[in-house]
Amino acid sequence: MEVKIFPNGIFGATTYVVFDKETKEALLIDCTCCIDEITDFIKKEKLNLKYILITHGHFDHVYCVSEMKKHFPIVPVMMNKEDVDLLNQVPAQCTMAEVDEIKVPCIDALLDEKTKNLKIANTEIKIIRTKGHSKGGVCYLIGDLLFSGDTLFKESIGRCDLYGGDFSEIEQSIKQKLFTLDENITVFPGHGYPTTIAHEKKFNPYFGSNYS
Ligand SMILES: [Zn+2]
Repeated sequence: MEVKIFPNGIFGATTYVVFDKETKEALLIDCTCCIDEITDFIKKEKLNLKYILITHGHFDHVYCVSEMKKHFPIVPVMMNKEDVDLLNQVPAQCTMAEVDEIKVPCIDALLDEKTKNLKIANTEIKIIRTKGHSKGGVCYLIGDLLFSGDTLFKESIGRCDLYGGDFSEIEQSIKQKLFTLDENITVFPGHGYPTTIAHEKKFNPYFGSNYS
């Protein structure tokens, strides 16, 4: 599985294109920037976009979803239902962040840990519910790649002081659901550089001392 990273989206959020070189199947994780570059890349690589998967309902992660849907109208946008009320606050979030306001993006399908049959090139897309940054946050595990949204960053974790945030929940989510995964898994966060589960167990200042 290949990952093309489009960093430096709005508020420094990252959009990921995950794709398989042989079958050309592809998906997007979040959609925050660079519509032209992303659509050019998809065309150049002749990719068949199957899903737009949203990690959580903050404006910076969904900022370009509606624009992208104009290019790929039949590709479903999917998110966890617990973040629908947060998503409905996107226009207000934009105002608070002093960026141009966008409309609430449309979600085509809801997903949770029970959702089956999401696949890319025969690799299952596993949904891991990680509350704490928001109520409906999810991480996506695709083979040995984890897309962690704003739950886990390289040597940091997501904020817990926003609507629906809770420190004990994010702590539990990371300890019980992410740090129990294979240590060699590469983590692609919603902001900043990739890391690994092993690196975070050792060096994440919120957890390092518990795991070193
Ligand atoms: Zn967020």
